[in-house]
Formats: sequence, C-alpha cells, structure tokens
Amino acid sequence: MAAPAYLDWNATAPLRPEARAAMTAALDAAGNPSSVHAAGRAARRLVDEARDKIAALVGASAKDVVFTSGGTEANALALSPSIGGSLLASAIEHPSVRAGGRFTSVEDVPVTADGLVDLVALARLVAGRDRPLVSIMLANNETGVIQPVAKAAEIVHSAGGLLHVDAVQGPGRIACDFKALGADLMTLSAHKLGGPQGAGALIRREGLALEPLIKGGGQERGARAGTENVAAIAGFGAAAEAAGRALEVEVARMTALRDQLEAGIKAFASDAVIFGAQSVRLPQTTLFSVPGMKAETAVIAFDLEGVAVSSGSACSSGKVAPSHVLAAMGVEPGLAKGAIRVSLGYSTGPNEVESFQKAWAKLAESLYKARKHKDIAA
Ligand code: PLP
Repeated sequence: MAAPAYLDWNATAPLRPEARAAMTAALDAAGNPSSVHAAGRAARRLVDEARDKIAALVGASAKDVVFTSGGTEANALALSPSIGGSLLASAIEHPSVRAGGRFTSVEDVPVTADGLVDLVALARLVAGRDRPLVSIMLANNETGVIQPVAKAAEIVHSAGGLLHVDAVQGPGRIACDFKALGADLMTLSAHKLGGPQGAGALIRREGLALEPLIKGGGQERGARAGTENVAAIAGFGAAAEAAGRALEVEVARMTALRDQLEAGIKAFASDAVIFGAQSVRLPQTTLFSVPGMKAETAVIAFDLEGVAVSSGSACSSGKVAPSHVLAAMGVEPGLAKGAIRVSLGYSTGPNEVESFQKAWAKLAESLYKARKHKDIAA
C-alpha cells in the first residue's frame, strides 16, 4: 500500500502547528474574558488579538468580527428577518444556509451548468422586492467553483438588499476581502483553514444591527452571548495569520498539485468528468466522476488504499442522497452518483498525489473491467 494520504481538506483541515501552540498556551490562561482582573484581561487580550488577525485576513475591522461556534452558527445568525424582508439563496449553498436561519422559507437563485450563480436570474428575482437578503457563497465546497460575489453584491445593493457571503471555503485558498467583495455579512469557519473545529465568525458591515441567536450576557457587542471559547478563538487567530502569510506561495503550489492530480484522473479514465472545470475554481479542489462509478464504493476503495477522499460534500457524507449542487448544475443523476471530491491543503505534497494516483489506477482498471464484462453480457 502507498503512503496514507489525507485528501479531504474541504471537510476539515488538519490543525496547523501555529494553532496548536496558541491553543495550548491559551488553555493555561485561567481568566474569563469578561472579568476585570488581570487574569480576565489576559484572556480578553487573547480573544482580541485573534480578532485582529482574523479581521486582517479578510480586510475587515476587528470590531465587526463576531465569534461563533462555527460556520453553521454564523450562517444561522446572519439569516435573520430583522435585516431582510425575504431570503434568497443560491441553489448550491451549504445546508446550513439552505436551512434558512430564522426565515420560514428560502427562494432558490439558480446556477449555470458551469456551477456559477446565474446573475441574470438574480437580478430578475430581487427586482422590486422589499429589502431582499441574498446569500451567495464565495466558493462551493463540492466543486470549488468561485462565485461572482462582487457582481452579485452590485445587483443586490441596487435593489436595496443586503448580501451575505458564506466564505467558509475561501480564506487560505484564495484572497478574500470583505470590502472588495461588497459583502454586508460574511461567514468564516476556523477548521477549514487549519484552526480548531467548533469556532467560527460572522463579519458584519459597520453599523449593521444583528438580532442575536443566543441571548444572555453582552458578549460580542451584544451579538452573541456566552463566555468566549478562548483557546479555540486563539487557535483560529493563529491559523488565520499563518494562512494569510502562506497564501501566495500556497495558491501556486496547490494549483500545480491539483493540475497533476487531474491529469492523473484523465490518464486512467479518459471519460472522467471534472465538474466546474470551465469555471475559475479553488486551487485545491477537484470533484469528478466516471460513468458507472458509485461514489460510496469508490470512497471505500480509496480508503482501503489509505487515501481519504469524500463523496460529494462532507457534511452530507454518510447520507446516500445525491448532491444538490450537481443537481442544480443539471448533471445527469447517474453521473452525479459517482462524484468523488478530492481536496488538498498546506501539508499536501507530491507523495499524497502519487498515493492517490496509485489507488485511482487500480480502481479505474477494475471499473473498466466491470464495464467490459457488462458490455459482453449485454
Ligand atoms: N459553509 C460551507 C460552505 C461549508 O463547507 C461548511 C462546512 O462544511 C459550513 C458552512 C459549516 O461550517 P462548520 O463546520 O464550521 O459549522
């Protein structure tokens, strides 16, 4: 068996050493950040330093960063009828957006066959509406397709609405600037960029009043009650700083590895389809399928070779339900059933890509053999 390869970074990224060090140090700080004594002030300092680092990563003001328990909570906090008359969301959003937060219904904004939000449809859907709140992700977690967020923001704003951007899959992989994107609200999650699971943030445009989801003490400027998870937040901050520092080098490195990986997919299966390949994608994400392949079986076959990949989105793994993302792109259900997502990150190197290639060569061979038998039997 080849060397083990973790290639499921869009599900979660391994903890960065910088985050581990910051968390270990923070776990030894005894204070509650709301306490006025020295220990409390030291804990507050850790939270505020992390807030500064996260704000710097996405070009936001530190005071506009609201810490949450993760991307899911940040999405739920953002989607509130207190700031919008109705909710529209792209058909490829993560389930935590499609659930609609505190709205009772969500209207779909369609996407094109290339996995891009249909801006003409968006303009039509928001026209004449009372304060539409629109949610569009920065990059899709399954295909990696980067969405035309800045253009969507112009459309939404000219209709008098607000734009929420689920940017969970973006930072550390592509440049992500809150102001340049024209977002009013933006969701981040620590564990996708090498911080701990269970920490996230909602960035809000200055002055935008949020209806808290969790009420109680006045933490997070009244937007999210509860004693802050100091160690997780410190880890989030350290990961954000490290991800920002490495971005330029990593984009080039990831792109080269991903191109090599995709060439390998095609080399052993010339009819493989790479979804969203015509669009600009995250540099480290590949979603592909081959006619006749079953994703569940393929994931197990890869796992037996020590290669961790996923079928469709991680949050829905375990469920056999077809991908709503591929369905929205109009992909034929039989082909969608075989979709395998391979995603890379800061510690992925050529060895992992080679392990993937070896496992894929074996799997593709058995797939073609099975097809041949079927053809002969037919
Ligand atoms: N949004 C997107 C695009 C995601 O990919 C995920 C997780 O997979 C989430 C939101 C949820 O984030 P968290 O796991 O921090 O709750």
